Amino acid sequence: MAVPAARLEDYVAAIFRAAGSAAGEAGLIAHHLVASNLAGHDSHGVGLVRGYLAAVARGDLRLNHRLAVMRDSGSVLVCDGGNGAGAAMASAAMDLGIARTRREGAAIVALRDSYHIGRIGAWAEQCAAAGLVSIHFVNVPAHAAVAAFGGTKARLGTNPFAAGFPCGEGEPVIVDFATSRWAVGKVQVARRANKRVPPGILLDAEGRETDDPAALFAAPPGALLPFGEHKGFGLALACEMLAGALLGAETQRGEPSPAITNSMLSVILDPGALGGEAAYAERRDALLAWVTSERGEGKEIMLPGEPERMRRARLLGEGLALDAGTRAELAEAAASVGVDAASHLGDCA
Ligand code: NAD
Repeated sequence: MAVPAARLEDYVAAIFRAAGSAAGEAGLIAHHLVASNLAGHDSHGVGLVRGYLAAVARGDLRLNHRLAVMRDSGSVLVCDGGNGAGAAMASAAMDLGIARTRREGAAIVALRDSYHIGRIGAWAEQCAAAGLVSIHFVNVPAHAAVAAFGGTKARLGTNPFAAGFPCGEGEPVIVDFATSRWAVGKVQVARRANKRVPPGILLDAEGRETDDPAALFAAPPGALLPFGEHKGFGLALACEMLAGALLGAETQRGEPSPAITNSMLSVILDPGALGGEAAYAERRDALLAWVTSERGEGKEIMLPGEPERMRRARLLGEGLALDAGTRAELAEAAASVGVDAASHLGDCA
């Protein structure tokens, strides 16, 4: 039975409160996990709860950590995530960046060494809701999963890139993707559902193409391929340079760990401080109308951000149909901190 999103969010927040998170942090973690499911990115949704609790137990994820500003030079803010909960670290970093952009016209916000910050589009949406354009480069240092272009073994993270563009009263354009053909979580979702992976996505440990999602998690592990051949590889490397090396944060060094940490370099821009609000609105609207002004027969053109919005609108009505494996894992995680699934989910448990 589908679970209403609000009920799922309350349940997940109760799990994190029971694990020791303050109410505000537990609410943020739950909100962002469920928002990923609503956007159709189950790889970043409530299926991560069990892994997050395991990370708390190992000491890899520090609940109730507060974001620390390490350096403040006007339009540049360097923040330490201290392995705190990513939803709390990234939203606090964006709040600081938005306030600074309003004052300075532009801000560069470095978020170093946070625990998993989830769906990067969420941070672009936060900036767009404040009327600001943003660009985000992210690395995943402890989690090499992607081969270099021409390589056969995992050398980089799935290093996502995102950019957000507010559109006045309309919906923002949100570009948000991993630089690998598939995100790791998507392969995990295929493995749970006993599905094969399409060609051109995955190599096994011997460097041969495979359609078996289990190959990525085998010992020794396989590797994902970058999207767009050398181009995706180049963007993944730029993410590693910008979010890792440039910030003095962790970078890939071949020391695998179950922890999912992220660093993020965000550039936040006020259209009013560049070409001006009116010019931005006029050029943006004309550009988007031109780009979407023709389509192939039987095809539709969507702007980035639209598929997620359409799914959100539908799933808010229908509820979230979690697969049996995810429900069971969630119930197990809840029980491990003394939370009863049935008392939160009722008939939907
Ligand atoms: P994806 O391949 O589903 O691409 C999503 C992007 O493409 C969105 O901007 C979406 O609006 C756009 N899009 C999809 N279909 C479209 C269409 N038909 N026309 C126009 N635009 C379209 O994303 P992904 O690479 O699987 O990444 C999934 C999520 O995983 C992202 O939110 C990403 O931030 C997240 N991620 C996070 C981490 C991390 O470590 N925190 C790592 C990797 C990925």
